[in-house]
Amino acid sequence: MEDVREIWDKVLKILKDKIVATTYETWVLPLVPHSFEDNCFCALTGQNLAVQILQKNQKDISKALSEITGKEVYFKIIYDENLHKQMEKERQKVKKEEEKEFIKNLENKILPSKYDGLKKMQSACNLNLKYKFDNFVVGASNKFAYAVSMAVAKDPGKQYNPLFIYGGSGLGKTHLLQAIGHDILFNTKLTVRYFKAEEFINDLVNSLAKGMDKSGDKNKKMNEFRNKYRNADVLLIDDIQLIEGKPRTEEELYNTFDTLHNAGKQIVFTSDRSPDKFENSPDRLKTRFKQGLLADIQVPDLETRMAILTKLANDRNIIIPINVIEFLATVYNKNIRELEGAFNTVSAYASINDMPITIDSVKRIIGYNEQRKNLTIDGIIDIVASYYNISVEDIKSTNRSAKTAYARQVAIYLAKELTGESFPNVGKCFNRKHTTVIYSHKEVKTNIAKDRNLANDINELTNLINE
Ligand code: ADP
Ligand code: MG
Repeated sequence: MEDVREIWDKVLKILKDKIVATTYETWVLPLVPHSFEDNCFCALTGQNLAVQILQKNQKDISKALSEITGKEVYFKIIYDENLHKQMEKERQKVKKEEEKEFIKNLENKILPSKYDGLKKMQSACNLNLKYKFDNFVVGASNKFAYAVSMAVAKDPGKQYNPLFIYGGSGLGKTHLLQAIGHDILFNTKLTVRYFKAEEFINDLVNSLAKGMDKSGDKNKKMNEFRNKYRNADVLLIDDIQLIEGKPRTEEELYNTFDTLHNAGKQIVFTSDRSPDKFENSPDRLKTRFKQGLLADIQVPDLETRMAILTKLANDRNIIIPINVIEFLATVYNKNIRELEGAFNTVSAYASINDMPITIDSVKRIIGYNEQRKNLTIDGIIDIVASYYNISVEDIKSTNRSAKTAYARQVAIYLAKELTGESFPNVGKCFNRKHTTVIYSHKEVKTNIAKDRNLANDINELTNLINE
């Protein structure tokens, strides 16, 4: 009997003209022929969506197999975890190569004097080229952090030192931090070091352990450690909250900080919480964190979330209807990483030409639970009312006391942001005209950027509502 590979190669030739090119290239070509027994031809896939996606091509594939083998053949695809891992590895490799190529192109473009600095930088820090200022979408929630990050990048070590960026997970802290690194890298000769706090902790532990083993120079490893972190003009430390409650690391960081800061070197931290919430850290470290500038990032509003999705779609040349973008942006309303993840899943489907992207198909793709939707505007009003300790009736009434009016505006804003309902529909639930609702929504939106208390309320309420 012919080898499965040989059969499959012949089948591929037939399928190439039968199946839409994007589907063929994305899903059929990577299949690995596995076995041919009892009229069943089996191929493995490392892409877990392939089984589902190729369902409608099943007939074409079986037919091609029958044509080549001269008998009735049943075709089956099996998802293989190992193959998945292998493909993922290769994908990473290709990505790295692409980045290298990209940097090389840049090197050719920039001035020779900058060339060395760039080279040095590249080997010394591991910045991801995905994270730059020009692909960071700015909205009220991150405007401040964005502006001060830009300022730091333009004038490192001068104005805001350290810069301490904090906010919830998946809101763009690492993105901004690395954007600062890229900007300095491309525009100056300064050396930059980016690292995660975890790396600092591990390095320190290793240096301490190895330092003790050595019979000769006991401090050699420690000196190496210190040089690594202190020989930089710009130090970017990601997820600094991880050092909380690790006294030895805190002390070492404190010393590193003072050395660099006294020498006028720029330091930027990111953290999932503000310095005040480092309950187990010594005050002298917290004081250092706060001595420059604190910048928080909040959850972006609906419009910004939609802008992020639109940008992703444009960058990848994928057409997604605006109502689907709005739908995704309302479902994934607290974490950009999750929003991006959903987008990636959906765009995998979009790569198949003949599958329309509709709200219904997207619901299926992301496994959307209709029950969530049952948390309606009334549900939101309930939560907001009890948060501000007033009654639902008051919110829906014409009561104009300051407290009620404030809570009502917040509720209207959240109702629009979290359900994506039209303004007239939101208006109905509040017994108000849609123009009034539009006004309230806009009012809150503008004020969030200026009013920290309001921003905080919105954040906490969003979490409560999403629970
Ligand atoms: P954090 O470090 O705060 O957990 P990240 O910086 O890793 O979050 O962001 C998560 C993902 O969301 C990244 O892919 C990032 O590029 C993207 N992202 C976050 N904020 C924005 C934004 N304002 N514009 C574009 N992409 C963003
Ligand atoms: Mg991060």
